[in-house]
Amino acid sequence: MLASMSFPWSPKNLCKQNFINNEYVDSKSSKKLTVYNPKDGSLVADDVPLSGEEDVDAAVAAAEKAWPAWKKVGANERRSILNKFADLVEKNGEAIAELSRITLGAPYKAFGAFEVGLCAETFRYNAGWIDKFGGESWPQEDGFLKIVRNEPLGVTAGIVPWNGPIGTIGLKAAPALATGNCFILKPSEKTPLSSLALGTLIKEAGFPPGVFQILAGDGSTGALIASHMRIRKVSFTGSIPTGKKIQEAAAKSNLKRVTLELGGKSPAVVFDDCNLDNAVTWTANAITANTGQVCFAASRVYVQEGIYDKFIQKYKEAIQTKTKEVGDPEKDGVNIGPLVDEAQFKRVSGFIERGQQGQGKLLVGGQRIGDKGYYIEPTVFTDVDINSEIHCQEIFGPVSVVRSFKTEEEIMELSNNTNFGLMAGVFTQDINKALRVASEFDSGMVGINCVSLMFTMTPFGGSKESGLGRECGIHALRAFTEPKTIMVNLTY
Ligand code: NAD
Repeated sequence: MLASMSFPWSPKNLCKQNFINNEYVDSKSSKKLTVYNPKDGSLVADDVPLSGEEDVDAAVAAAEKAWPAWKKVGANERRSILNKFADLVEKNGEAIAELSRITLGAPYKAFGAFEVGLCAETFRYNAGWIDKFGGESWPQEDGFLKIVRNEPLGVTAGIVPWNGPIGTIGLKAAPALATGNCFILKPSEKTPLSSLALGTLIKEAGFPPGVFQILAGDGSTGALIASHMRIRKVSFTGSIPTGKKIQEAAAKSNLKRVTLELGGKSPAVVFDDCNLDNAVTWTANAITANTGQVCFAASRVYVQEGIYDKFIQKYKEAIQTKTKEVGDPEKDGVNIGPLVDEAQFKRVSGFIERGQQGQGKLLVGGQRIGDKGYYIEPTVFTDVDINSEIHCQEIFGPVSVVRSFKTEEEIMELSNNTNFGLMAGVFTQDINKALRVASEFDSGMVGINCVSLMFTMTPFGGSKESGLGRECGIHALRAFTEPKTIMVNLTY
């Protein structure tokens, strides 16, 4: 598809300014972010704004000014602005994905297209809700008519991670804007360029100044947002330690509302009576998509002993096939790019090295690919010690651990024996067992004969330390509004 003439951004013309009040402006802070291309470690830019207090305050002031009029914009008009933005994101999808790819490393066909599609789709989905999220009213037999309005919160913000820089924007900005809030986006310091470029499309779509703004920055910028006294809500996706800091900052400042989408170590339980090929396909895809840098990746695979040897053989073959798909994300036929940066490469390599020192048996992978860029072989450990770090911690790379099990009871206990609770999968052709196990998993999402997937219309999020609140579906709209009860006395 041809890019819009109005979208000037490309790797040769990077957008390196904040977007405040519908204008691109320089940051007031002299600090800068540096970003690299993980395909070869080369410098992409060392002058991306690292927003400070004055920048955050300027965005908040513009949002506060815009909010009274924005919340009163009629449903038709607001819907058409959101839909136009979705169209523009889709129309410029390849260019936007390229701006992510140069610092994330994700191939377009295998991930970039999905991400921009998810962003556009969530805008359309939420636009469709605008005139259908009307609140409630209750009978007046007792003499009082009760009306419950879904009120927007005011100035809200989204702090997003690097592994889904565009998709996560849709999950947060779309329900915030659909329900009449103003929204400030803070992209990850590792992947700010595609987000900053959206300012052009925000303006073209017709969002009034101050309604949808973008501030580049790092954790310090995020912390300013989380503790800001005039921001009423933060929707955050990222790691558990940062999520905890955000909740603490919110509590210590103005008790702003918080939605947290955090990490995972999701189990896939494969029973003897499953369709083996289906189980292998889903579990192999789950741990290699986006180079394993996916919060809901099935990274613990538990296989019942009757099918274990066959599963291992096929899973190993599937992972070896995936290994052939690793490479330069700009080349045809490459579905798996590098890890995002050197720090992530060292982190994942460290887990793999330590894993080989008595935590489990290396089945496949484990090596760096090439000597430039941050490519790593998809890696599987078997016979893992259940107390080892590779079994217990989120690695956030293409590394899975496999164990065999005997009974349903035993494996449900092991599956749930974790502080994570994002996703789980069960593979069996026995519908009773599938539904029983699905209800036993202590997690926000469960796949039956599938795993590590999501839909814009159903709640997305985790239990326990994997998160707080839900995105997607009507739950996202509720998370950006507050019910207001109006009581009308009809008795006098
Ligand atoms: P991160 O927590 O390091 O950073 C996420 C964002 O928070 C970044 O924008 C960062 O600048 C900001 N930040 C850092 N410190 C902050 C602070 N003190 N206050 C406010 N903001 C701060 O996470 P990451 O490394 O970018 O992402 C990887 C993690 O995200 C993994 O744990 C992964 O599982 C999780 N994740 C979860 C989901 C989900 O929906 N559950 C989706 C994608 C990623």
